[in-house]
Amino acid sequence: MTVLEPSVWPATATTDASGVLVVGGVSVARIAEEYGTPAFVLDEADFRGRARAWREAFADGDPYYAGKAFLCHEVVRWVEADGLGLDVCTGGELAVAMRAEFPPERLLFHGNNKSHAELARAVAYGVGRVVVDSFEEIERLASVAAGAGVTQRVLIRVTPGVEAHTHEYVQTGQEDQKFGFSLASGAAAKAVEAVTSSPALSLVGLHAHIGSQIFETQGFALAAHRMLGLLATVDGVSELNLGGGLGIAYTSEDAPLAVGEFATRLRAIVAEECASLGIAVPRLAVEPGRAIAGPSTVTLYEVGTIKELPGLRTYVSVDGGMSDNIRTVLYDAHYTARLASRRSDAEPRRVTLCGKHCESGDIVIRDVPLPADLRPGDLVAVPATGAYGRAMASNYNHVPRPPVVAVRDGHARVIVRRETEADLLALDVLP
Ligand SMILES: *Cc1c(COP(=O)(O)O)cnc(C)c1O
Repeated sequence: MTVLEPSVWPATATTDASGVLVVGGVSVARIAEEYGTPAFVLDEADFRGRARAWREAFADGDPYYAGKAFLCHEVVRWVEADGLGLDVCTGGELAVAMRAEFPPERLLFHGNNKSHAELARAVAYGVGRVVVDSFEEIERLASVAAGAGVTQRVLIRVTPGVEAHTHEYVQTGQEDQKFGFSLASGAAAKAVEAVTSSPALSLVGLHAHIGSQIFETQGFALAAHRMLGLLATVDGVSELNLGGGLGIAYTSEDAPLAVGEFATRLRAIVAEECASLGIAVPRLAVEPGRAIAGPSTVTLYEVGTIKELPGLRTYVSVDGGMSDNIRTVLYDAHYTARLASRRSDAEPRRVTLCGKHCESGDIVIRDVPLPADLRPGDLVAVPATGAYGRAMASNYNHVPRPPVVAVRDGHARVIVRRETEADLLALDVLP
């Protein structure tokens, strides 16, 4: 039994005596046999362990799981049981939370273009916080709340002029983006006025989300510094929500911050800023998505055609592709992979792992070492696909979307079933 590189593979991942990948005590060979491929295999202990670690690291604040990373009924139940809040950003995500009867006061509702119907539904359900994103929305929400006879708690989404990805952050002077109220232009201060002068709304805090897959805290520090400057000018506003974005390891080259360290640094940054402004330390909220869901899941594929182009490269085709993982195409994301169904002593060779779609850009991993004796019928596993994998999956080429199989303590259960051809055909209206 081998314990796999823990930063990239799910917490419980090992291999058995014949080299088969085992996650949550379940052999992936068994999963392929019972549920088919491709499939997302989700290590429940990994997901929930991370959720609880965020809960503990922010015990004096509010961690919200960002549902857009991966959301389904069962995940909502885990998030509830493990004591986190839930961040949703559309009526559809809200509907999942509502069906699972997630406590409304622990919900936070995002979005730059929430419809009247979405706001009405959120207010009627009693959503704890609506993050307002435009002057139009402030008016719309005020009228919805007044109509319902309630005072809606809101946060204001600000654009702090900081954008961060991985190791770098940039100060974005012109703040050219669709989200939020610009701090620099004074729009954020005007939004504070608009919300505080509306009797149907109650301003509880400020929010910013500076980017994704971030490994450092400098960007958060600058955002906090700027937001606290505004917060210091308003009475009775007690929450600072610094959004999501903490990075994970997709390959062994990535070195993400542990959540405990991240929380310690954020708290220190905020405490120091508040001391110099002479204000009380606000309640800290964060919205991890990728950092909870990402590392929990591996995508299991079956190898099909292998095409060797002499002097160029070898294309190894799998039975999924850009329909279950768009991140490589969209963001030039990097992944690793391993042969999952047997042991091989063959030398590794670098190949391109590609999908089955009619698109030459349909690539899962551009360049990955896999055993030279790889053959059709082998299973290949790609780790760290739990965030923005199934959530961004499409039906391109009429490919049904894969299931999500949760594994724990030797048991496997489907928490999102595989889409069927019948599901897809049912959408066509026949003459
Ligand atoms: C996307 C998003 C998140 C989650 O981002 P991760 O990078 O997955 O942690 C949190 N908050 C907001 C507002 C977002 O848009």
